[in-house]
Amino acid sequence: RKDRPRRSDNRSDVQVKADLLAVHQAPKFKDILRARQKLPASAAEARFLDLLAKNQCVIVVGETGCGKTTQLPQFILDSLILAGQGSTASIIVTQPRRLSAIGVATRVSSERLDDGSVGYVIRGESKQTERTKLLFCTTGVVLRRLAGGDSLKNVTHVIVDEVHERTVDGDMLLLQLKEIMSKNKKLKVILMSATINHEIFIKYFNNAPLLTIPGFAHPVEDIYLESVLPKLRYRPTNLKGLKKMTEEEKQQLRSEYSAGGLDDESIRAIQTISRSDRIDYELLAAVVRHIVSIADKPAGILIFLPGVQEIRQCLELLRTIPNSKVFPLHANLSSDEQRSVFAPTSQWKIIAATNVAETSITIDDVVYVVDCGKVKETQYDPENGLTRLVEQWVTRAAAKQRRGRAGRTRPGICYKLFTKKQEAQMSPYPIPEIKRVPLESVSLTVKVMKHDVKAFLSRALDPPNMAAMDHALTTLEELGAVSDTGEVTALGQHLASLPLDLRLGKMLILGTMFQCLSPVLTVAACVSSKPLFLNPMDKREEASRARERFADGNSDLLTDVNAYDECLRRRSDGASQGAIRAFCEENFISATTVRDITSLRADLFSALSSINLVPPGSKATAPFLNANSTNSNLIKACILGGLWPRVARVSLPRSAVKFDKVQAGAVQRENIAKDYKFFDVKGSNGRVFLHPASVLFGATAWKSPFVTYFQKQMTSKVFLRDATEVPMYALLLFGGPVSVNHIAGGLTVGTKDAFVKLRAWPRIGVLVNQLRRLLDLEL
Ligand code: ADP
Ligand code: MG
Repeated sequence: RKDRPRRSDNRSDVQVKADLLAVHQAPKFKDILRARQKLPASAAEARFLDLLAKNQCVIVVGETGCGKTTQLPQFILDSLILAGQGSTASIIVTQPRRLSAIGVATRVSSERLDDGSVGYVIRGESKQTERTKLLFCTTGVVLRRLAGGDSLKNVTHVIVDEVHERTVDGDMLLLQLKEIMSKNKKLKVILMSATINHEIFIKYFNNAPLLTIPGFAHPVEDIYLESVLPKLRYRPTNLKGLKKMTEEEKQQLRSEYSAGGLDDESIRAIQTISRSDRIDYELLAAVVRHIVSIADKPAGILIFLPGVQEIRQCLELLRTIPNSKVFPLHANLSSDEQRSVFAPTSQWKIIAATNVAETSITIDDVVYVVDCGKVKETQYDPENGLTRLVEQWVTRAAAKQRRGRAGRTRPGICYKLFTKKQEAQMSPYPIPEIKRVPLESVSLTVKVMKHDVKAFLSRALDPPNMAAMDHALTTLEELGAVSDTGEVTALGQHLASLPLDLRLGKMLILGTMFQCLSPVLTVAACVSSKPLFLNPMDKREEASRARERFADGNSDLLTDVNAYDECLRRRSDGASQGAIRAFCEENFISATTVRDITSLRADLFSALSSINLVPPGSKATAPFLNANSTNSNLIKACILGGLWPRVARVSLPRSAVKFDKVQAGAVQRENIAKDYKFFDVKGSNGRVFLHPASVLFGATAWKSPFVTYFQKQMTSKVFLRDATEVPMYALLLFGGPVSVNHIAGGLTVGTKDAFVKLRAWPRIGVLVNQLRRLLDLEL
């Protein structure tokens, strides 16, 4: 296992101390130390260590950038080493994101002249030795360690960073730490938070002491939409709505905007912009140009946007700003790309970022913040299992964080693309994630640890709703992870040790067993990534024609696999970067997503290898894992086996059904699209619709009236995304928890020879052959 606990340091306490003191003598260390000592956290060192000596749990809050993440873990480590306890020191620091874990570990390691004391572990990647004493991990890594039965006996400190983010993982970790602390009094726990709603942590940890580190924030001026707009030359093109407004109503708006001198047109513009649910990029660009025109010298401008797509669109407009460099900043970038925003420059540094720049990344030279006020958040409705990615207003807490990023090194200005009144109506704090996402994965982990799910989860900081927990337990049964008597099945054991969505985990296990792993890996990576095909608004038709060129087997997912494989084929044929980029552009394929899929495939494969479902050192493309990789019916069966019961029945117009290939007729797309009706097999009468971007939309030849889908999304209607037509035999054989679980019953979790067992299990070979034959019948 890549994330197994380290072996202990074989140096003596005295030796460890001597090694540290040697590092402290280095001139380079002294330079770094001087900079570290300027951070506000340094002034709090003694108080922090004192609180920690007297308490089992300490809560630390402080302005972002004050040195919590990089300094506090080092204070603990150095104090242990200097006190002669260096050889057994073991400090874990959790980070909510993989990139911040690596980034912070690298930074802290360099502050210690890379003496080997700092390491990191994230899913599929580990950098630690027996000398590692300060280990940065993602929260998920620590949770899996706990689920695997590790009680953190050899760990001296757990530091949970960014607890204010209230992710499910973060909340689960706090819940478990609370239980472990009551049994293991020697384990110290430190929670670190931005200054947002931190009182609830104090209460949760029985009045744990609070250490507040004052920031060195400079004042930041707020400029709301109503104040900046009159200063810009920009007006939206679609001004509307106010013609009929009475003088009195206008007067009221004027006072609401507390800008008495506003003319009618400004009022209309403010109203139009603030009522629109689109991001106005032209306005954004106008604000940036305004900043550049009034400033005395170049500085950093940080723009907050809801997502990667928005960042791309925004930067496109800003490239023309003279004497400037533009940077995207989001969690999907490589750490090198992220690092580039730190480099000092004498030009304007324009950074368009998602909320990663809110608390976890600090860029010191930002003087201006432009906040569009929006964030994208998943919402989940347990009643009908619908997930939606909703763009919505940020909370006031987030808006405050964003604005604070402007006053790091000198007084700053925050431009807000919303009105003061809108801000007052924002909700104060975000709703914790545990209350708005599906809980099946969490519930399975809890079950594997032999706790009662409902009793356990109701002790969480914010207990999830009963309905959501019930729904999760039902889902686990449907997936075959839990038997009808509530026991965790063999499949459930496997799934619990795979760090990914349960459905995708199941799909991968099936893909391994049925030897079509490579395409199934691509499918699993595709559904977890941004769309592979771009769908620009002004070129919808062209884009969908491009996509049709790769269409395969009435399946969005197999279409993606085709396109992805084609990109890789070109690369391995030696096509130049430029040629591949041109190919992607021509075919509306996102080159970034291709890259994401490649790295995700590698992650998923290493997850399979970590539980020995594939032999160590093998490749995802190895022939023995891909004997059936061209059998699309079998691949579809594995997709279905994973996604079940996400299946819808199509009621097709008779003319469109092509059970007999000879009968295929040219049926007009439009007619068919109108006539489709999709019904959820499981849902009683819910009518659902194929997403128009699906290759199945308007397909003329159907072999089966069933489609499986990954997501059901509610926008104007309930749309199915990532749909795949499934052969009826596949549905009979793979649709349902029992059969799959029966198959997976031959596997043993986490033993070295799991793979050998899997391969040697005679029934699998027979089964694969029988299934192949059945599936080839194309019933
Ligand atoms: P906090 O966790 O309180 O938000 P950090 O410990 O992450 O603060 O950062 C403290 C300071 O160290 C930041 O204000 C920044 O100036 C500096 N810093 C942190 N990481 C980096 C980095 N990768 N490159 C350059 N400076 C950094
Ligand atoms: Mg931090």
